Amino acid sequence: MPTATARKPTNSRTATKSRKPQAAIRNPKSRKHVYFFGNGKADGNRHMKDLLGGKGSGLAEMTNAGLPVPPGFTISTEVCNIYYEQKGKIPAAIDREIAEHVKKLEKAAAATLGSTDNPLLVSVRSGAKFSMPGMMDTILNLGLNDDAVEGLKRRTRNGRLAFDSYRRFIQMFGNVVLEVPKEAFEHELDAVKKARGAKLDTNLDEQALRDVVARYKKVVKTKAGREFPQNPREQLTMARDAVFRSWMNPRAQEYRRIYDIPDHIGTAVNVQMMVFGNTGDRSATGVGFTRNPATGKKEFYGEFLINAQGEDVVAGIRTPQPIHELEQVMPKAYKQLREITTRLERHYKDVQDFEFTIQDERLFMLQTRSGKRTGYAAVVIATDFVAEKLVTPRDAVLLVDPESLNQLLAPGFDQDEWKKIPTATRGLPASPGAASGQVVFTADHAVEWTRQGKQVILVRRETVPDDIHGMFVAQGILTATGGMTSHAAVVGRQMGKPSVVGAGALEINEAVRQFRVGGKTVKEGDFLSFDGLTGEVKIARVASKPSEILQVVNGTLARDKSDIYRRFETILTWSDKFRRLGIRANADLPDQAELAYAFGARGIGLCRTEHMFFGEGRIPIVQRMILADNEKDRRKALEELLPLQRDDFYGVFKGMHGCPVTIRTIDPPLHEFLPKREDLMIDVARLEATGHAGKELEEKRRLLARVEQLHEFNPMLGHRGVRLGITYPEITEMQTRAIIEAACRLNKEGLKVVPEIMIPLVGHVKELRDQKTIVDRVAGEVMKEQGTKITYLVGTMIEVPRGAMTADQIAAEAEFFSFGTNDLTQLTYGFSRDDVGKFLRIYQDKKILEKDPFASIDVEGVGKIVRSGVELGRQTRPDLKLGICGEHGGDPASIHFFEQVGLDYVSASPYRVPVARLAAAQAALAVKVGD
Ligand code: PEP
Ligand code: MG
Repeated sequence: MPTATARKPTNSRTATKSRKPQAAIRNPKSRKHVYFFGNGKADGNRHMKDLLGGKGSGLAEMTNAGLPVPPGFTISTEVCNIYYEQKGKIPAAIDREIAEHVKKLEKAAAATLGSTDNPLLVSVRSGAKFSMPGMMDTILNLGLNDDAVEGLKRRTRNGRLAFDSYRRFIQMFGNVVLEVPKEAFEHELDAVKKARGAKLDTNLDEQALRDVVARYKKVVKTKAGREFPQNPREQLTMARDAVFRSWMNPRAQEYRRIYDIPDHIGTAVNVQMMVFGNTGDRSATGVGFTRNPATGKKEFYGEFLINAQGEDVVAGIRTPQPIHELEQVMPKAYKQLREITTRLERHYKDVQDFEFTIQDERLFMLQTRSGKRTGYAAVVIATDFVAEKLVTPRDAVLLVDPESLNQLLAPGFDQDEWKKIPTATRGLPASPGAASGQVVFTADHAVEWTRQGKQVILVRRETVPDDIHGMFVAQGILTATGGMTSHAAVVGRQMGKPSVVGAGALEINEAVRQFRVGGKTVKEGDFLSFDGLTGEVKIARVASKPSEILQVVNGTLARDKSDIYRRFETILTWSDKFRRLGIRANADLPDQAELAYAFGARGIGLCRTEHMFFGEGRIPIVQRMILADNEKDRRKALEELLPLQRDDFYGVFKGMHGCPVTIRTIDPPLHEFLPKREDLMIDVARLEATGHAGKELEEKRRLLARVEQLHEFNPMLGHRGVRLGITYPEITEMQTRAIIEAACRLNKEGLKVVPEIMIPLVGHVKELRDQKTIVDRVAGEVMKEQGTKITYLVGTMIEVPRGAMTADQIAAEAEFFSFGTNDLTQLTYGFSRDDVGKFLRIYQDKKILEKDPFASIDVEGVGKIVRSGVELGRQTRPDLKLGICGEHGGDPASIHFFEQVGLDYVSASPYRVPVARLAAAQAALAVKVGD
């Protein structure tokens, strides 16, 4: 329907779904479920992400490339599905396969699980095809028990390391597998630290850590009601299952919902020999990116912690050191790390996000994968890669997620105003963008306040994966601890959400919901702003101004002055070379047409004429037309509307510079232009009760009577679309006249336009025939009056299932089809577009629907109808022009489908035109028409 759901806000949920799909190597007959890697050889490789997950395939690829990777094995994503199918049981055959791989790993590592001399320790880590930072569980140091810890001490001659590893293991295993709250362990650790006057964990010696271990074991006993398991094989099975279970934990599910990652792909489990970043000052652990993931700048980027294990870096507990400082501390390992990561970037032809551990100055690679980046960085990196000849423009187009382009269109601060306000503090600029809003301290408050229409900034000491819902709705995220790879930074960047992290000067007291900074107290609800590109935080509400890209598009900033605009333009120009689909815009007014043209639309796929009826001073005329009880009076009102519509059409044609423009005749039920029935009833009752008589009361009564007449129980299925044109042919006449007169005028002025007149909601060919007769007659009359001949087309929307099913008949009359997938979805599912919100979320929670079918096309159902409409239509008229103008025209996944079925163009709202251009190129490069 025209007004209510037509404008859907841009939604970052789809951010990952349109990344280039991996080659599916999944072999359903495969009996192999476990894949080994070690000693220079791996069973898997980079093309096996579906089966091994991102982490597993990266480990396999690095192993094959001869890089220093500790040996291990990956339990495939298929096993995760089996685990769920079999209600939490793993078949004995797979258990045996895992046991064989444990033996193989023991051999490769020259160590044995549970040994008192030389124990093998492993990490057990999740890893799905798409990275889901922090959403699932990981366990380190598995294999330790009361005996093995002594063995580890003997082997490493490092009692502190052994007991530090053991206490970490009990803590992680206890929390993840046995579900003991983290705080129970933290409480004990704090008590030991306090008793020994230790400030940091690293200040605790072996004896202190032995004490911690003893206390932790007690915690497990009381909270989990069982002893801490001592058998490493039992530990491994329990940890494996816990990782599989974590696939379905609420935060992972929420994350997948936001990013449109399907549930059925499952996670792999990686079991890998531990290396230790916590053996002392000659050891470290860190993470990094081959380029700056926030800005795209070509710089080695990352962080590390001396004497620590991997979790410490991402957990944001200690603020790590920037990676370039590693050069001073461990020059050899640093040099090797740079060489390896540069090689990896060249090998994968993409920015890599890597994890490493240095054990006694020896470097080990623990992960490499495509690095998540902001939309800004994605554009910078892709254009730089081409300049560096690392990739061709064709590959570069595939490196940018179409949805992420929206981030470049988001507003920034008005610099003049920003500079006037003093800076309260600075943090690390984790994700660019201007954020301004009211402070909240919890994710739940962020959601609640946003529901009340407020804009909020989520301020946390550090975010945890459970905060995902709050992060999603907040304008920005500000944390006091953590580095550029902390949870807040990684997730903020991925969401394209402005984020500043590690603003250490903030003294946050979440319990009383306030923080202090620079002598000032900021309470929940106070306004705060920050710039995610510079890290500056200010205590004020600051207005923002349009993005650089929009400033160039609007002509307020010179193209030459904006580096990012030129790069953005470059990516889109490359996209245009590779795409087959035409890109049009849904635009109703001249300025929208201009904007869409500036964004690269080359045509209008849908001009909803009724939107023009809402223009200034028009509603009274429209109402007069509706209230008229005879044709003569109706025509009189329509005559007044005619010049206004003609001028609108003239402007829209002009704004499109002669590109094709599809104008749809009136669609919505007429009551939409009249006041609400309930309001009128109240007005009439009030006037009557207060003894008012006369003109006002009479008018209200007349309006109410007409509204009652027009009242429908199901207006969406009622008197709208082509049905209006059939019952009030004079409306179609007026609109045709306005369109053709505007076109003739432009023709005389030298701009040739070919109007496409589109009849909505056609389900029967005779409906279209009826309207076409009117259009042709009036067009003929106007051209005669004007003494000009113009070309025009008459077509229809295909948005009623019957229309699609009889498309062969309809195509006999229609010169083009435009699929109205909004109504088509509504009518195919029988879900009201306006009411679906009441139950959609429950459908998604219950996994009945994975995606909102009004946002992303339902390929199996609605898509099937579109496909058949295309085939039937082309049977009758092989050159039938085919487009789509529902909201799906701006959705990358849907665009993929429209490419497959071979439509000629997609039409999206003006701001989504860049997304559609890029998505169309990616679709053309990935799929063949008719597949
Ligand atoms: C549609 O139904 O898909 C369409 C574009 O028309 P409207 O949204 O105006 O009903
Ligand atoms: Mg429609």
